[in-house]
Amino acid sequence: MRCYCCSSKSFDECCEPFIKGDKHPSSAEQLMRSRFSAYATAHYQYILETYTKEKQQGLSVEDLAQSAQGATWFALKVHPTLAASSVDSLVGNLVSSTEDSSIDSTVHADAKVEAVTNAEPISKTNLKSISKPNNAIVEFTAYYFENKSMYQLHETSNFSVEDGKWRYHDGVLHDDCGKIKYGRNLPCVCGSNKKFKQCCATKSR
Ligand SMILES: [Zn+2]
Ligand SMILES: [Zn+2]
Repeated sequence: MRCYCCSSKSFDECCEPFIKGDKHPSSAEQLMRSRFSAYATAHYQYILETYTKEKQQGLSVEDLAQSAQGATWFALKVHPTLAASSVDSLVGNLVSSTEDSSIDSTVHADAKVEAVTNAEPISKTNLKSISKPNNAIVEFTAYYFENKSMYQLHETSNFSVEDGKWRYHDGVLHDDCGKIKYGRNLPCVCGSNKKFKQCCATKSR
């Protein structure tokens, strides 16, 4: 089964090991994807644990479950960003930008590949001088059904590293959030190359 986060990988090779705690996401984008998959599979404990400590204050699994009630999260689109700030998220962006990147971001991505490749041989001495960024932003659109209507949540989120693990801190919602109409004959938002009506539209309830 394709992962809930709409990557090209299967759930057990993508988000599931993070949700089960077998592995930790190595980039903000991976964490964001796994949190989406956790919403899609109702793993609210994982949602809670992957907030920054500051945001965990005053939140409970029950609150999270209640606020998510009635929503069927069915697709995720990660927008290519130029502000990616770790090698891992660069790689993540390269993968996700193959779908819908503009020429500009492709050129930019190529430049980043080169930069990453050039930086490959890391000796112990120059490892110290490479400061691994502790903050990153990821922009995404998540799609869900509620009462047979389709909604989108378009957010730019802030992530930071705490105790060596990526955590979600907060996000800014874009103006186009809310109920949307999506043509049943259009290519599905999940990137499956099927028509919407033959793909995710069938998950509406
Ligand atoms: Zn995934
Ligand atoms: Zn679909």
